[in-house]
Amino acid sequence: MPAIESTKILKQALTGYFQSFFDETVPRQKVAWCTSVGPSEILTAMGFKVYYPENHGALLGASRASEQYIPVANAAGYSPDICSYLTADIGAFKKGETPLTKAYGIPSVPKPDVLIYNTNQCREVQDWFAYYAKEFGVPSLGVFSPWKVDDLNEDQISYVAKQMQSLIPPLEKISGNKFDIDRLREVVALTKQTSDLWSEFLGLATARPSPITFFDGCIQMASAVVLRGLPVAVDYYRQLNAEIKKRVAAKTGAVPKETTRLYWDGMPMWGKLRFFSDLFERLDTCVVASTYCDSWIFADFDPADPFRSMAKAYTKIFINRSETHKEKVLIEMAGKYGVDGMIFHDAKTCPHNSNSRFGMPQRITKATGIPNLILDGDVNDLRCISEEQIITAAESFIEQLTHVPRNARA
Ligand code: SF4
Repeated sequence: MPAIESTKILKQALTGYFQSFFDETVPRQKVAWCTSVGPSEILTAMGFKVYYPENHGALLGASRASEQYIPVANAAGYSPDICSYLTADIGAFKKGETPLTKAYGIPSVPKPDVLIYNTNQCREVQDWFAYYAKEFGVPSLGVFSPWKVDDLNEDQISYVAKQMQSLIPPLEKISGNKFDIDRLREVVALTKQTSDLWSEFLGLATARPSPITFFDGCIQMASAVVLRGLPVAVDYYRQLNAEIKKRVAAKTGAVPKETTRLYWDGMPMWGKLRFFSDLFERLDTCVVASTYCDSWIFADFDPADPFRSMAKAYTKIFINRSETHKEKVLIEMAGKYGVDGMIFHDAKTCPHNSNSRFGMPQRITKATGIPNLILDGDVNDLRCISEEQIITAAESFIEQLTHVPRNARA
C-alpha cells in the first residue's frame, strides 16, 4: 500500500501543537481537557489550549502500550468491563507515563485547569473526568445531551445550546478572559471548514479503486479531532486532499488489487490497525468507509448561529442516534460507497459504539442483501482480540462475497 506523503506534515503539526503546551517562551495559556465530541470551539475561543484524553486513549491503543496500563486501572477499582480508553488512560496516569513523550517529545500530559465533557457519546466520560477533577483539584463541567435521538427537535437543541452557554461564566473566571462571540464565530467557521474538508477526504473513497482505507482514516482523523477550530487543520486537509485526488485521477488504489469493498461499523481496534490493513490487503479487500471516521463531520456548524448549530451538530453524531436512524445511515452509506459487505465491530468495553447487539446487522442484511460479519474485539484491550479467529472469519467472509453474486444473496 503506498504511504500517504502528507502524513509527515500531520506529524509536524501535531508535534508543534503538543509542544506548545510546554512552551516557556510565551505566557502560559490555560488548559482545558475536552471530550472528543465536546464543545471545544468554546474553549479555543476563550483562549484555552485544548487537550483530548480520548486521543490519548487512542494513542495508548495504537502504540500497544495500553496492555501494561489497563491492569493498573483495574487494580484501582476500574473494571475490565468498562471503556478501555478510560482504563488505559488512568492506568498510564497512575504510572506517570505517556506515549506523548515518544511521539511528540513532551514530558507528560498537560495539566488541566478545567475539564469539559459532553455525554453525547457515553456516560463513561463523566466518571473518567471526575477522576481527573479529583486528582488535579479542578472543576469538571458537563453538557448533558438527550440520548439516542431520532429526529432532533428544537426543544432538544435549545436544551443543549443553553447548557453550552452556561459554561461561559465559569470559563471566563478560570481563563481570566472575557467571552467574545465574534471570536467564537471565527472558531466555529474554522471547524466547519475542517469538517467540510474531512468529509471531502472520506468521500474520495467512493472512487474505484478507493485511494484510501478506513485504516488511513484512523490516522488522518487526528487533525479533525485535535486541531479542529485552528487554521492548521484547514491547511492540512487542503494539502492531504490534493494528494489523494491525484491518486483518484491516476486510479491508484490503496489496496493494489481491490476486488471487494467493505464498510466498517464501530470503533477501530487501535492496537491492530496494521494487522487489519495487511490482512485485508492480502484478501484484495478495501475497507472503504466507516461510521467512526464520519463522526467528526459537523455539517450543521454555522458561524451565524454558533451555539445552536454546535448543539445540533454535536447531538446529532452517529453514536447518539436511534437504532432506526443508524440503520438508515448505514444503508445509505453502503449504497454511496458501493460496498459488498459490512463488518460490525462488537467492542467488548464500548457498548455505546457497538451496533451489533440488537439485531441491526441482520436487519440491514435483510433489507439490502449485503452480508455482514460481526467481529468480537475491543478498542484498546488486546486481551479481547483473537487474531486467529479474525483471520478465519475474515477469510471465509471474503470468500463468500467473492463467490456469491450480490443478486443471489438476499
Ligand atoms: S464512546 Fe466508547 S470508547 Fe469512547 S469514551 Fe465512551 S465508552 Fe469509551
